[in-house]
Amino acid sequence: MDAVTTAPGDTAIWTMPDFDEHERIEIVHDRASGLTAIIALHSTHLGPGAGGTRFWHYAQPQGAMRDALRLSRGMSYKNALAGLPLGGGKAVVLLDEQRTRTPEMLAAFGDAVEALAGAYVTAEDVGASEADMEAIHQRTEHVCGLPVAEGQAGGDPGPYTAQGIFLGIKAAVAHRLGRTDMDGVRVAVQGCGSVGGGVARRLAGEGAQVTLADIDQAKAEALAAELGGTAVPAAEIMQVSCDVFSPNALGAILDDVSIPKLDCAIVAGGANNQLTRAAHGELLRDRGILYAPDYVINAGGIINVGMEYLARRAGETCSASTVMERIGGIGSTLTAIWQESERSGAGAHEVADRMARKAIGRGE
Ligand code: NAD
Repeated sequence: MDAVTTAPGDTAIWTMPDFDEHERIEIVHDRASGLTAIIALHSTHLGPGAGGTRFWHYAQPQGAMRDALRLSRGMSYKNALAGLPLGGGKAVVLLDEQRTRTPEMLAAFGDAVEALAGAYVTAEDVGASEADMEAIHQRTEHVCGLPVAEGQAGGDPGPYTAQGIFLGIKAAVAHRLGRTDMDGVRVAVQGCGSVGGGVARRLAGEGAQVTLADIDQAKAEALAAELGGTAVPAAEIMQVSCDVFSPNALGAILDDVSIPKLDCAIVAGGANNQLTRAAHGELLRDRGILYAPDYVINAGGIINVGMEYLARRAGETCSASTVMERIGGIGSTLTAIWQESERSGAGAHEVADRMARKAIGRGE
């Protein structure tokens, strides 16, 4: 196993716009198994850098480094504003076009995580499965999101993420519409998967009127029938007239073209990296749309697996109800961001970034 820690002389990485003072970047190549991976640690100021491992085929290998850096910084911010004693890190495993992964590659990746002695804690991300995490866990303790017993923290993050988004939407409705109930509040939900489906069920359970869309139209229709909502084609959901637009499918959906067409008072959903660029946060603010920064509102999943990991490391257990209590704080964090946004005139996305940077010791 050759593990190369980059040195200050490696200007190619040092000067990348996404570098942002990463503490450590490991480029791992294991000749025997064919594993090539990057482990990026943005900040360990608050604790071990925690963030998932993405298994992906990159047509352009430099895209892998950019992803690792950008996602790792995102985890620093997410963990900080979730109030977790965890820093930010992320790994990418570079797969070939057939997306081949072997037990030997997973073992070598587990060894690379173990070699960091707890500075990095991994979890599932795009392209990874629970079985991959269990294979990595054979080689290192520094893994979270493992299967757990009923009632304990850990396991599938989806329901925890959905609960945090639901509470975030309620906080947004209280802040912008001055309402404490959801009766008749019109919410357009993009994406009816693990997160979007969970959000829609919770909202409908409190009387909200849900409009649903998914590229799998049958999925949206089935959920609409279950919840007494309406299904619309995926191409129409962002123009639906509603109180809340809740994106729970893809990133980079808010841009120069889509924002002017939104017909809502609030954007609040779980998809990662919703703003195509930071300037789109300002565009939302200029249109008077209240925006819930994605990494704040969708932190329920990392709160769940982070608390699972921290308890396991301390030789303790953590119950699902303790996790839910912590997720209950997402609404007040968002409200504090919106209040500061209104006081300062800065967009909510910018206020959240500033708060996160301060928490990780990198404020101005
Ligand atoms: P999922 O795969 O279960 O569901 C995604 C759904 O979106 C699918 O039903 C898919 O068909 C649909 N979809 C894809 N493209 C679409 C489009 N253009 N229009 C409408 N629907 C579309 O994934 P998930 O776990 O529910 O995650 C949803 C989003 O939330 C992702 O952006 C993910 O990164 C983010 N997220 C998830 C978690 C979690 O705990 N699962 C945590 C944080 C963030």
